[in-house]
Amino acid sequence: MFEPDAEAMPHEALAQLQDDRLRALVGRLLARGGLQAERLRAAGVTSPADVALEYLPRLPMTVKSDLWEAYPFGMVEVPAEDVVVVHGSSGTGGRPTLVAYTRADLALWARMCARALAAAGATRSSIVHNAYGYGLFTGGLGIHQGAIELGATVVPVSGGMTARQVTLIRDLRPDILTCTPSYAIRLGEALAESGAGPGLSLKAGLFGAEPWSGQMRARIEELLGLRALDIYGLSEVIGPGVAAECLEAADGLHVNEDHFLVEAIDPETGEPVPDGTPGELVFSTVTREALPLLRYRTGDIASLRHGTCQCGRTLVKMSKVAGRRDDMLVLRGVNVYPSEVERVLLGSPAICPDYLLVLDERLDARRLIVCCEYVTAGASSSPSARPAGPGAGELPGSGGGDSPGAGDLEAWLRDELGVSVQVKVLPSGTIPRSEVGKAVRVVRWRDGAPPLPGLD
Ligand SMILES: [Zn+2]
Repeated sequence: MFEPDAEAMPHEALAQLQDDRLRALVGRLLARGGLQAERLRAAGVTSPADVALEYLPRLPMTVKSDLWEAYPFGMVEVPAEDVVVVHGSSGTGGRPTLVAYTRADLALWARMCARALAAAGATRSSIVHNAYGYGLFTGGLGIHQGAIELGATVVPVSGGMTARQVTLIRDLRPDILTCTPSYAIRLGEALAESGAGPGLSLKAGLFGAEPWSGQMRARIEELLGLRALDIYGLSEVIGPGVAAECLEAADGLHVNEDHFLVEAIDPETGEPVPDGTPGELVFSTVTREALPLLRYRTGDIASLRHGTCQCGRTLVKMSKVAGRRDDMLVLRGVNVYPSEVERVLLGSPAICPDYLLVLDERLDARRLIVCCEYVTAGASSSPSARPAGPGAGELPGSGGGDSPGAGDLEAWLRDELGVSVQVKVLPSGTIPRSEVGKAVRVVRWRDGAPPLPGLD
């Protein structure tokens, strides 16, 4: 552990620390007198003494549109000269979501990413091949500073230019890979094509910025011969390093809740959901200086689990993110997340990890077209290391080498999702591959030509 005193803090001491930090945050917001102070006063909170950790679910929330309306710096709570860097994420309508950092915020962020790297087994002697994009996006520079904080060697290769990445991995022999899960697949295939194969030097990877399934984890581990761990973050909270999986358990992400108080709420009612029940994640960034947010609604759906992990960490665990609240597809009254479709598709080793869900909204009765491709020779994985598929039966053809047809996939998806969808198996290379940034998994077909050739 990078900070064992914090990461394995006894539960009571942690709750006390969170309580102190929450009051301090409320005190700072009230003193500053911005939007969040107005909302606190409207809720009857006029001093830090009015709040306590147990009352957190009753405090006012913040949402993404608050940041857009205050664009660019209306919610910054420190003097402009104290801001040292700005990051952000793509917004909608061309307006990015901007997040400001002070020196102390940057130092905190570096420590959070160092925790994540250490949880994946990285040490001072590690070489971190960092293929997250560098720039306004927090992925690249967040991991970069975390690796330096840990004392490891970071290779700031950024995204794209895959041939160069293959050369660097073969020559520098990194033990840690950091990138999006979809790019890990792309990189693994390119390494296989170069003749390098799995089992190079890579021991673990931290993959995030996109929701991904357990089936995708199995694919990545097989392709790259490493342990694939999940890392979670969003720029509004701090960037990557909000939560990360540990090597020992690898069954959920430890949330750094000494700095980021986390709740899971019912997205409709706003009420807290019990441990183990999926809900929308809400974070309070109690130690952030430039842009502290009280109860920020992320739109990400996951469940929480309290307890002590076999790794010794006492920090609450969040499940892998099932999807974004906005990405949830409602089909004839049934809620479907793209990651659930991914889990079913990748249950067959014959199906390529690049897929696209086309939501046909041209008619009143919307339909979902699941577009996928077969794995091409050379990039295929050996069935022996593949975990058993979900459900009672194997996918037809999954054991014997025959590829399942569209009808087989449709039947399996209907059983697993509880709703009928259409499957199109397209020629290899039809679905766009992502080299930089996040993979696009869902497109909406509202009018005009189909988003991919071969759809009708
Ligand atoms: Zn653990």
